[in-house]
Amino acid sequence: MTNTEIRIGIDLGGTKIEALAIDDQGVELARHRIDTPRDDYTATIMAMVGLVRRLEAETGKTGTVGAGIPGSISRITGLVKNSNSTWLNGRPLDRDLTAALGREVRIANDANCLAVSEATDGAAAGKHVVFGVILGTGCGGGVAINGRVHEGPNGVAGEWGHNPLPWPKAEENPGPVCYCGKRGCMEMWVSGTGIALDYKTVTGRAQTTREIVSQFETGDRDAVAAMDRFEDRLARGFAEVINILDPDVIVVGGGVSRVAHFYEDLPKKLAAYVFGGEASTPIVPAMYGDSSGVRGAAWLWPNLRS
Ligand SMILES: [Zn+2]
Repeated sequence: MTNTEIRIGIDLGGTKIEALAIDDQGVELARHRIDTPRDDYTATIMAMVGLVRRLEAETGKTGTVGAGIPGSISRITGLVKNSNSTWLNGRPLDRDLTAALGREVRIANDANCLAVSEATDGAAAGKHVVFGVILGTGCGGGVAINGRVHEGPNGVAGEWGHNPLPWPKAEENPGPVCYCGKRGCMEMWVSGTGIALDYKTVTGRAQTTREIVSQFETGDRDAVAAMDRFEDRLARGFAEVINILDPDVIVVGGGVSRVAHFYEDLPKKLAAYVFGGEASTPIVPAMYGDSSGVRGAAWLWPNLRS
């Protein structure tokens, strides 16, 4: 190997920063995870630089660097927008990180990184158009075409979480207020937050999503009804994506994606909403689970030096 044959990926999360180095075959060489210096932009940059230096010292190689972030870089201002790690918003993160490291850094939305990771060597390997979804506390989406991020001129391609829930029923209108300022966003229905909120609205009882899922598994009536509503809403959201993009596969990551049940049920529910009544789109869990974001960040450089 020459001196440059590794890729470094960084997953900048709201509570943790994860970084890894992989070789040309995607084999993991080293990995580290540290707490995110919340609310401190300069410390966040320095923490990311520190992780790159550490991985390079350990592997003895210099790498390309990609980073996945919550939010995206505005094509208009060059500044971070739409990040729930709010101390990043309005900052030129890519330029600052590039300057601090002395080399070009590629940055993409974390759901885009998931799509790239899974399209490169994961559950969607070799697929042409991949829609990646993170169903965690919130709900993100991203698109990879031929293994590359499709961002769009506004940098929001795939952001289905802030489309309104399609085909709303009377009791779903206008829907809960979202942090983005609008009402009834998908994120407020099909995320962990949304599942718990819906359960409380319907039953009057506060439960965590984890509790609701475990009660679902024991057959509890309220939990089964809650998960059925969740699946139906997810099917409507995916149907809207299929009507626009018709991806070859939908890959799902994030904590909620571990609920195995919906991979069986969802395809049946989908057809009722997709135009024409046919839907053969595979819906599969992310092969790399929580590591899809950091691996996808590394694969933002599919070819070294270009
Ligand atoms: Zn919203």
